[in-house]
Amino acid sequence: MSVMPVPVTVLSFEDARRVVEEQATLIQAGETESIGLLEAAGRVLAEPVVADRDLPPFPRSTRDGYAVRSADLAQIPATQEVIGEIKAGEKLERIPSIDKGQAASIMTGAPVPDGADAVVMVEYTAQHGTRVEITRGVTAGENIVPRGAEAREGSPLIERGIRLNDAAIALAASAGKAELVVYKRPRVAVLTTGDEIVNVDEMPGPTQIRNSNTYSLAVQIQQAGGEPVLLPIAPDQKQGLRSLIEEGLKSDLLLLTGGVSMGRYDLVEQVLADMQAEFFFTGAKIQPGRPVVFGKCDLGKSGADECGAGTSARDGASTPRDRTYFFGLPGNPVSTMVTFELFVRPMLEALAGVSARKLLFTHAKLKSEIRIKPGLKRFLPAILSGEFEDSEVALIPWQGSGDIAATARANCYIVVPSDRDQIPADEFVAILMR
Ligand code: AMP
Ligand code: MG
Repeated sequence: MSVMPVPVTVLSFEDARRVVEEQATLIQAGETESIGLLEAAGRVLAEPVVADRDLPPFPRSTRDGYAVRSADLAQIPATQEVIGEIKAGEKLERIPSIDKGQAASIMTGAPVPDGADAVVMVEYTAQHGTRVEITRGVTAGENIVPRGAEAREGSPLIERGIRLNDAAIALAASAGKAELVVYKRPRVAVLTTGDEIVNVDEMPGPTQIRNSNTYSLAVQIQQAGGEPVLLPIAPDQKQGLRSLIEEGLKSDLLLLTGGVSMGRYDLVEQVLADMQAEFFFTGAKIQPGRPVVFGKCDLGKSGADECGAGTSARDGASTPRDRTYFFGLPGNPVSTMVTFELFVRPMLEALAGVSARKLLFTHAKLKSEIRIKPGLKRFLPAILSGEFEDSEVALIPWQGSGDIAATARANCYIVVPSDRDQIPADEFVAILMR
């Protein structure tokens, strides 16, 4: 078998992220399907939702009180004649119009009658028979949302590429959408490598390790909008590894874990190079996760037998596709999780149809000093705690990037810039939530 040289491209975190974001912009989202409104929660909208009528559809009172003409209340107190009561959902023909000197009792969510231009809150009123005494003035428009102020009929309410959360589902409901058109979930193959790795249902020998990366990745894939396709564990042996990589490349994205370090049995890059894969980078100056690899297998260059079947496996559809992106993620469990968040997520989201967004960091006050060797950008497991204005963040003691137990207790990562060797307590640091 031919042995191709493996290129070595180690980028700064920022450059590596930029490369991924650039590749993500080249991706066209896939097929769509129409599904029920509630099923669509968490899915990605493929057709904009448009307002089928003005929102609100009538000028809406935001308070219980009295609908009035604000000019009538120039002198306070003022006494008005009460000519009706308007409940939420009141029929149009039963809504009186308000003339000078008149008012109508009105409930929250009810339509404000013609003639009235404000609502006085009930607290500032006292009704005696058909008269109401009002002790506070109002400005025109007070306590009313004008018709169409939230959205005009025909205007877009939810854009394509939005992941549908509670508010978006509610908004779609308010526009009468019992069904929504969403993108189908991309299929993401997960291939874990290593002779020492055994399945969760097998008893490991004294020097064997149970496969945990497949599971963290499957969860992250689902949360990012993909459908995991779990492949068998690949051996640290070229032939076996290659046939599983070929299988994995039939999915929309292939994630490998392990076998990307410099060790003699780290064969992932070599096998992919033999398959004439293109590498965008083979490392990033981060910790954990330095050996992370990103590339694609270009079917045009290497032929169908080299890099998969040449068609998307998605639902058996035969859409021709000339490339499958892959990531080689380092095998250390924390490295696998972190590199997914930093690099895989934007590609997966692009395949899922999500509009591109930048990586978001929040900031919190550091509880105790950090000392660290500079040179790599660090993403260190940490706990954000405290409440109200007093939130603070502290590193979790850990045994390095193999320590899943420590990471399972963490709720975020502290981001340490690569040029810092010390961060004093009380400094605000960037954190990446998990
Ligand atoms: P590698 O990247 O193959 O050099 O693996 C780095 C470390 O991660 C080694 O200690 C492996 O045993 C461990 N590791 C690799 N793959 C997995 C996996 N799927 N689950 C748990 N640990 C793993
Ligand atoms: Mg290995």
